[in-house]
Amino acid sequence: MNNIKELTLLDLKAKHLMIPSEKVAHVQMNNPLEHALLILVKSGYSAVPVLDTSYKFKGTIGKNLILNRVLGIERFEMEKLSQIEVHDVMNQTIPCVNKLDDFFMCLKTVIDYPFVCVVDNDGYFDGILTRRAILKQVNKYMHVNKALFQEIDK
Ligand code: AMP
Repeated sequence: MNNIKELTLLDLKAKHLMIPSEKVAHVQMNNPLEHALLILVKSGYSAVPVLDTSYKFKGTIGKNLILNRVLGIERFEMEKLSQIEVHDVMNQTIPCVNKLDDFFMCLKTVIDYPFVCVVDNDGYFDGILTRRAILKQVNKYMHVNKALFQEIDK
């Protein structure tokens, strides 16, 4: 793979910027919410991908979704955490990108999300792309091309 330092924004693809699946914390569809909450709290992430048993991407689950689901009238009904499974609560409307999508597609996709999932044509999970990774590249581009922006200002 090319060193991403040598690539211009136009050459960058999702595969250059993503966190690969083996480094991504995830939960499975039939895990109880208790397990999902444990992963989220221990990892410090606000949300993680949900995969099925064949490692296909199915959605995401976050702390807010879980806590809202067990929120009763006067208290959190924590006993429900072991009774409800992840697939009942997860968000299924997260957009995905493909490994070969270009930088501009990635930029557009992460505008509304802290991260999106990278999925192949058969729905298998390849990794995640964070808004942080995209913004780092935009920051680098603007610094390297500072002169260009100063020129436009005049
Ligand atoms: P960051 O840009 O590093 O703050 O990450 C934004 C969000 O992406 C985090 O809050 C998590 O929801 C998700 N995320 C980042 N890295 C990972 C990872 N290694 N495993 C699972 N989720 C992650």
